Amino acid sequence: MRNESTQCCVVGGGPAGMMLGLLLARQGIEVTVLEKHTDFLRDFRGDTVHPSTLELIAELGWIEEFLTLPHAEMHEVTVSIGGKAVTFADFSRLKVRCPYIAFMPQWDVLDFLARKAAAYPGFRLLRDTEMTGLLLEDGRVAGVQARTPDGPLEVRADLVVAADGRHSTARAAAGLEPAAGSPPMDVLWFRLPRHQGDEVPFFQGGHGALISIDRGDYWQLAYAIPTSAYPELRQAGLPAFHDRIARLAPGLSDRVALIDDWRHLHQLTVRVDRLKTWHRLGLLFIGDAAHAMSPAGGVGINLAVQDAVATANLLGPVLGERRPDERDLARVQARRERPTRITQAFQLGILRDLYPKDLADDTAEHVPPIFTAFKALPPLRHVMGRFIGLGVRQEHITRS
Ligand SMILES: Cc1cc2nc3c(=O)[nH]c(=O)nc-3n(C[C@H](O)[C@H](O)[C@H](O)COP(=O)(O)OP(=O)(O)OC[C@H]3O[C@@H](n4cnc5c(N)ncnc54)[C@H](O)[C@@H]3O)c2cc1C
Repeated sequence: MRNESTQCCVVGGGPAGMMLGLLLARQGIEVTVLEKHTDFLRDFRGDTVHPSTLELIAELGWIEEFLTLPHAEMHEVTVSIGGKAVTFADFSRLKVRCPYIAFMPQWDVLDFLARKAAAYPGFRLLRDTEMTGLLLEDGRVAGVQARTPDGPLEVRADLVVAADGRHSTARAAAGLEPAAGSPPMDVLWFRLPRHQGDEVPFFQGGHGALISIDRGDYWQLAYAIPTSAYPELRQAGLPAFHDRIARLAPGLSDRVALIDDWRHLHQLTVRVDRLKTWHRLGLLFIGDAAHAMSPAGGVGINLAVQDAVATANLLGPVLGERRPDERDLARVQARRERPTRITQAFQLGILRDLYPKDLADDTAEHVPPIFTAFKALPPLRHVMGRFIGLGVRQEHITRS
């Protein structure tokens, strides 16, 4: 058994964990991030970098370099239902340096953060290292146990931050159970080639809902179906599935048949849940580990990053002097819980109407009130632009 020690051990190298590791190391704190995968090259993750996250990168002084990475800019979000379109969010009035969503593969974003973090002497990223358990000492979480290719590892730390996502191992090890909301959908991810001149709306509702992300030479597509409807969809057969996609995105009808095996579709079960208490002595949960987000509105990454910034702002100075106590950790929850509650209520309430209730449901036949409201009141697009683009409580980097 190998043993290491650090000031802060972050479990999970996703958006929350990598941003936190970077910001703490930048404050001169020793931090070790454990990531169970060998690289960040996992497909079918959210690809959105929001105006607030771009602003943070600008505050760090890296925005020009960041924007040299391949990306597409989305200045407004258009929702289309039954062939009628409405602008749902407009980012043009945001007072930030980049008033748009940058679509960038998440592995590029995480690689960028890892590269920047590596420049700080206190930062360590241990890939292929899976946290398996918590070390407990005198009623306090004193570190973690992990599985590595070279055998078991123990990392002792003044603070463990669990940023290990919606299936958090740390949460299970701490015996914590989140309260779950009921998201209206599951998501099937797949790809189709992209041709010059393709006209494919970002969000198309009807029988199911199709979200289309431009990845240069291919479309990254997310087909949202009612929760647990996948077996029924499969039973209806692939031609029926092709027909559904072709009706939502006629521009792709010439290539939907390339999906000739269900294995081309990756099902992701959507969860929305939240821990009542985000901490135990020595252990803090942030990002999806504290509050799993659905893809609705594409706001989960933003929230995870904002949690990381608040954590670094509040706990970095404490870690520099002593081990954080429960009151220190409670301050992070106090700051981030309200934005989380409001965002989850928005995902489970307002946005839910954009998604069909069962496979036979066609949202075009009973146009959701939210769609009608945005058509009647165009200024709402700026309100939504602010909500999606900056979130409920925008965090800034306060420590150098
Ligand atoms: C289908 C789907 C689509 C989505 N699309 C979007 C979108 O477009 N935009 C958006 O903003 N949000 C989207 N979301 C939500 C978003 O993915 C999450 O809110 C966000 O990724 C949370 O970031 P995180 O860092 O907290 O967790 P994660 O991104 O889940 O990262 C957790 C990390 O921890 C690692 N890990 C897990 N267990 C361990 C362990 N035991 N030891 C070590 N490492 C571990 C994982 O490998 C992973 O790298 C989507 C969600 C779903 C389900």
